[in-house]
Amino acid sequence: MSTVSLVSTDFKSDYFLPEKGLSRDTVRQHIDRMIEMDPPERSGLMSIYCNRGLEEGHEVMLEAFSKVYKKNNLVTVLMPGMKQIEEELLSMCANVLSGGEHGIVANITAGGSESIFCAINTAREWAKVTRPQVTAPEFVAPYSAHAALNKAGHYLGVKIKRVPVGADYRSDMAAIRSAIGPNTIGLYASAPNWPYGTYDHISEFGKLALHNDLWLHVDACVGGFVAPFVKKLGYPVPPWDFAVPGVTSISADLHKFAYAMKPASVVAYRNLELQQKYHYVKVTEWPTIEYSSQSVLGSRSAGPVAAAWAIMHFLGEEGYLRLARQMMEEKKRLAKGISAIGGLKVIDTELTLLCYVSEDDKLSIMEIVAGMEKLGWVHFGTLQPPMVQLVMEATAEPYIEAYLNDLSDIVGRIRQGESFGEGDLHYTR
Ligand SMILES: *Cc1c(COP(=O)(O)O)cnc(C)c1O
Repeated sequence: MSTVSLVSTDFKSDYFLPEKGLSRDTVRQHIDRMIEMDPPERSGLMSIYCNRGLEEGHEVMLEAFSKVYKKNNLVTVLMPGMKQIEEELLSMCANVLSGGEHGIVANITAGGSESIFCAINTAREWAKVTRPQVTAPEFVAPYSAHAALNKAGHYLGVKIKRVPVGADYRSDMAAIRSAIGPNTIGLYASAPNWPYGTYDHISEFGKLALHNDLWLHVDACVGGFVAPFVKKLGYPVPPWDFAVPGVTSISADLHKFAYAMKPASVVAYRNLELQQKYHYVKVTEWPTIEYSSQSVLGSRSAGPVAAAWAIMHFLGEEGYLRLARQMMEEKKRLAKGISAIGGLKVIDTELTLLCYVSEDDKLSIMEIVAGMEKLGWVHFGTLQPPMVQLVMEATAEPYIEAYLNDLSDIVGRIRQGESFGEGDLHYTR
């Protein structure tokens, strides 16, 4: 089975700073040439987070970005305008994630990984006070939790105990319960997870957290800005937000389905006290003023913050509802088409990730991926088990029929004995 590493194993050292500055035109030509080296944005299904079809929204964001990108939001204290933009953005986000609860607070970060890092750090600081006897803290999570959790655990010295998911690709609550031990300080659940697109049983997690006095982080990086709108449209969405008793923190990526510009995400906490006491790190032991920052980063551009503010105002609830409806309808059409091909089983997901596995020994998912790649479709996917993952974009509509026709063609050819080799499942974005 072939996979793609996200980092290079060698370091390019044969490229040097030009002696003289290049002309503006030459710079542009170089950049353009390299852009052309990338695969064309053929498909509205696979090219996640490019958010094509929102051209006007992108212009709105770029306009906001270009006006403020030079400003450093580390020091919003000196910039009442930027401070107001950031505070309004964070308040909008806290209210989207609150589930109607009051007192939710949020911090801006550079992405899901930083949001998760902050949540695990805040939990660890909280546990130092609430369970001082624990010296080797642990978090328990379903196996489907995002890799960023293990990165955070590695940096922070928090052991991550992953337990297998159930046959339905959702958290197995008996396994979670029995993994909780004397060193457990927190639980981690996804709404939904990235590999399968399924929701964990967040209400059950909440009960376990309250019963055992544990932190509960809900990773809603991919779903946080979709679920409230999908629910409002009348689709069933399991409880996942701060309305669930026991949920302590939530991560949600602005640069995914809030359609904002990278890098932008938020981490939200149930109350101000948790944030003030445990999230912020205040440094006084250095030669200048007391130093603390929103999250891990120090200097950071006002650009993505203003861009996120701009797109949320440009779309409004109405816009998010419209996009959510489009994605849900596209998912339904795709799911129906894939199921009709035979031998492929679509995993039942609540939101706009759609995964399918093979139910036929003669039909390897990796062969399908390889065959589809020959026709120009780049897939994301999961390896355990082999599974194709499609990430809906509101602009997938024109590609659905072509995708289904190609998939049916490839499946037919594999059935007739044609071999395409083993495809790559791409995890890049
Ligand atoms: C994307 C994602 C992350 C990581 O977010 P980045 O912005 O890539 O750092 C974490 N959890 C889930 C569920 C995600 O979908």
